Amino acid sequence: MIIDFHTHIFPDKIASRTIEILENNITSRGKEGKAVIAATADSLLESMNLNGIEYSVVLPIATTLTQSVTINNFAKTVNNTDRLFSFGSLHPMQKDWESVLYDIKEKGLLGIKLHPEYQNFYIDSRESIQILKKCEELDLLTVIHAGRDIGVEPPVHCMPERLRHTLEYVKGDKIIAGHLGGWQVWDDVEKYLVGTPLYFDTAYTVDFISKEQLCRIIKNHGSDKIVHATDSPWEKQGHAVQVISSLPLTDSEKNNIFYLNAKKLLKIG
Ligand SMILES: [Zn+2]
Repeated sequence: MIIDFHTHIFPDKIASRTIEILENNITSRGKEGKAVIAATADSLLESMNLNGIEYSVVLPIATTLTQSVTINNFAKTVNNTDRLFSFGSLHPMQKDWESVLYDIKEKGLLGIKLHPEYQNFYIDSRESIQILKKCEELDLLTVIHAGRDIGVEPPVHCMPERLRHTLEYVKGDKIIAGHLGGWQVWDDVEKYLVGTPLYFDTAYTVDFISKEQLCRIIKNHGSDKIVHATDSPWEKQGHAVQVISSLPLTDSEKNNIFYLNAKKLLKIG
């Protein structure tokens, strides 16, 4: 079984326009990055069928203070789709953040996604820590965009050292640090985060990190705290599976990464 723990889709009506804006952010920085599918529910399910992915976790992001109601209603619809789990979202600076978290719990969503770059907050700020603590209390998972973002200028709001600070306030075993703990800051991940209780996802990493460092982080952090992910539509689901499969890891390490850890987090059978 293969579970993709980090994907993005949008309502049909706004998907192509949203992707166009995100792609323009990337090219305007002189970087390369193109969506490989249409980022709708149907296109994601089609990609899953083609690539043998059983379940995908969908991670919406509230980029303004007022979007969370619409986003979480859409998330609930997606979450009711067979084979898709959608997390909810809130903006850390919105005043009613606490009631939004209760609403996310009430809707049966399993967690939230935070994006310190799109949402413009530091991961170890007061606002952020109160959310991480509340999620831990409510048994909600938190996926965090960690490290650089291909479409956003620095300063980076979730460097590994800052993420490490949050572990003074929360246990961290319900937090999944995206992009292997910090996109393109993997030396700092090894310095500050490897060996902590945090989970790392592998989204959008396999083409940016050396195979040696990827394997070393997996081995030293522990394959029981790594979840397979792609950041679809930004990475081909099949390609990421091929790369992880080809790494010099044992079958039991690969099973942990591909589905066992995700099954545990998502409380699947
Ligand atoms: Zn993402």
